Amino acid sequence: MEEIIENIADPEMRSQIEKVASFHGYLSTGAFAGIQMLNLAKKVLGASNKDRLFVTCETYNCLPDPFQVLAGCTIGNKGMKILDHGKMAVTVTRRAPAGSKVKGVRVMLDPAKTVRYPRLHAWFMKTKNVPHHEAISILISAGESVYTYKILDLEVPEKPRKEIAICGCCKESFVQKGEEMLCIACLEHSL
Ligand SMILES: [Zn+2]
Repeated sequence: MEEIIENIADPEMRSQIEKVASFHGYLSTGAFAGIQMLNLAKKVLGASNKDRLFVTCETYNCLPDPFQVLAGCTIGNKGMKILDHGKMAVTVTRRAPAGSKVKGVRVMLDPAKTVRYPRLHAWFMKTKNVPHHEAISILISAGESVYTYKILDLEVPEKPRKEIAICGCCKESFVQKGEEMLCIACLEHSL
């Protein structure tokens, strides 16, 4: 893996890899694909490192981490939404006030394009056990050619009202979604 990183000429990409590997625990192929997707999305949106971004990841696997550590789109700061769709795809926009219109880009690792790289495709489709260093070096040489993107006009959703209530059962405070008097934990126990 070190050899691969040393061969990357772009110092920005090398620094991205180091940050992601340390945050994620190691450099997985999915996390590396996330770096490429982030860079492609920023290029398409004309976004710089100073722009605050919002991302929707369509899988819990690997992809969220590069966006959290490199773009500051975290679950805790609501810069990230994760859909459990099991897809290697993300949609990126600049952060904007609720109700406003924003340009977004959806980037996906495209199986119709990875098929040109049989070993990468085998990793993607999980038909063979392809080591990360091999899949990543293919991704490096393939670059943007294995991704497909689409520009979207999106509207930033309104923020839901945030009311705090004291649960009628456990007496702990919780964020109400509607008018419910019990927290979700107590509600699930009482059903
Ligand atoms: Zn409760």
